[in-house]
Amino acid sequence: MKIIFATTNQNKAIEIQKIVPESIEILSLKDINFESEIPETSPTIEGNAMQKVKFIVDKFAMNCFADDTGLEIDSLNGEPGVYSARYAGLERSDTKNMDLVLTKLSTQTNRKARFKTVIALSINGELNCFEGIVEGQIITEKRGVLGFGYDPIFLPDGFDKTFAEMTIEEKNLISHRGRAFQKMISFLKDKNNG
Ligand code: IMP
Repeated sequence: MKIIFATTNQNKAIEIQKIVPESIEILSLKDINFESEIPETSPTIEGNAMQKVKFIVDKFAMNCFADDTGLEIDSLNGEPGVYSARYAGLERSDTKNMDLVLTKLSTQTNRKARFKTVIALSINGELNCFEGIVEGQIITEKRGVLGFGYDPIFLPDGFDKTFAEMTIEEKNLISHRGRAFQKMISFLKDKNNG
């Protein structure tokens, strides 16, 4: 089965490639010669995932999925949330985004946070959403060099390594995106067998 993955983020493509069964052929936006920005204007993570899928399905009439992720920090009322990529400005700097979070939390004792991913999947015009969440804490300084985004300051509950100290394989087993993708993969396998 061929499915378009509506993303231009190479990091995400690399992580997901490792957990998708070979029987499913993933086409990137590059593969279909689409390299423009897809609108993401919803105030919610789920809304953005659905908006991206609908945009591609309307344009190409193909099976497609899109994911959207946000980091929700309790003591910042759920920020950065849908603004995670550009929290410290339109340049989308991981370093500046993390520094802003660390500054805002500098006097906070409640450092509880979670990553949330929603995947919207359209197969033959039928839309389904899959959610993955990982709970954790924002630590006080960056640790680790792997991964991307807020990984160096996110310590998942029950682990003593930040996401940036884990290999992609370790991270995929417990991450928001890994969990959401496992749900989507189970759904696709059931569909293939059913
Ligand atoms: P996206 O919706 O997957 O593009 O994610 C939006 C933003 O959330 C990214 O630009 C990153 O700043 C952050 N983010 C998403 N996934 C992760 C992750 O696995 N680790 C750290 N930060 C992430």
